[in-house]
Amino acid sequence: MITASPLPAQQPRTWQRLWREAITDPHELLDLLDLGHLSGSLLPDGDTGFPLRVPRGFAARMRRGDARDPLLLQVLPQAAELTSVPGFVADAVGDMPARVAGGVLQKYAGRALLIATGSCAVNCRYCFRRHFPYAEETAAAQHWREAIECIRADASIDEVILSGGDPLSLSTAKLAELTDALATIAHVRRLRIHTRLPIVLPERVDDEFVHWLRALPWPVAVVLHANHANEIDDGVAHACARLRAASAILLNQSVLLRGINDDADVLARLSERLFECGVTPYYLHQLDAVDGAAHFAVDDARARELIEALRKRLSGYLIPRLVREIAGAPAKTPL
Ligand SMILES: *Cc1c(COP(=O)(O)O)cnc(C)c1O
Ligand code: SF4
Repeated sequence: MITASPLPAQQPRTWQRLWREAITDPHELLDLLDLGHLSGSLLPDGDTGFPLRVPRGFAARMRRGDARDPLLLQVLPQAAELTSVPGFVADAVGDMPARVAGGVLQKYAGRALLIATGSCAVNCRYCFRRHFPYAEETAAAQHWREAIECIRADASIDEVILSGGDPLSLSTAKLAELTDALATIAHVRRLRIHTRLPIVLPERVDDEFVHWLRALPWPVAVVLHANHANEIDDGVAHACARLRAASAILLNQSVLLRGINDDADVLARLSERLFECGVTPYYLHQLDAVDGAAHFAVDDARARELIEALRKRLSGYLIPRLVREIAGAPAKTPL
């Protein structure tokens, strides 16, 4: 008798697999968006030194046939990046002088920021990460040892911020290794996670992650990073719901980006969409003056005008704080 062999098990779409399947070829991305015929004019001639990287699920939220799509413009290498502009430099926010231990930055009272990893699921063109020497500077590199000892030695640190890169690039097991060690430090009272992964690859918020989050011994704030309402589809809304169900407070920071969200309607819609997902707008950052990103800059007068326009139409709690990071300042600087 011949027994039917079982069907091959469906490979689960784990976040790690989706991560690996990200688009890294600009031509492929443009073809998917029916923009292949424009590749000659859209793509830079030279090497920008910062490759394209975008998860397929995020690319699927881009409008086909629209070379000005606000999600596409955040990830597509452009010729303008090759033009250096005075004042736009590699270390725009003074990260290197703020280093207090391997992978630990301290700029503000009470808060230590861990550069948990240099990896991200997406490469955002406007990001300072394009220049940061991550290979040497991640806190995970030697099992967090130096970072943990630095935090343990400074009782004024009551909040630890996991940042990067994107800390959720690390496996949940690796994150647990860190939080187990932090839990032995009595003066740590709050944990904050700065991440764009629930936006660009919401599958990252899987069962294992939610279990870890729920079991943490501190109140947790998760600061997401979305710049446009089109980034927030049903998958992202679901990930936010799971994070909230695990008792995390959800905030969002955006970067004000010319041609992407420098418009009162776009910013209002973003705030409304975030709130629908249980996320409170936190910061709207003026662009860091990063070499290769000058074409995204919006001037301060226009930025203030946009916030004034939001004030006239939205509830106060839907208005993000407009700030700039100034190297050496004791806090983010309100504009
Ligand atoms: C932005 C930042 C923080 C957090 O600042 P908040 O105003 O508390 O959000 C902490 N540490 C560093 C190094 C930062 O760059
Ligand atoms: S650190 Fe944030 S803004 Fe920068 S590339 Fe990674 S996800 Fe994008």
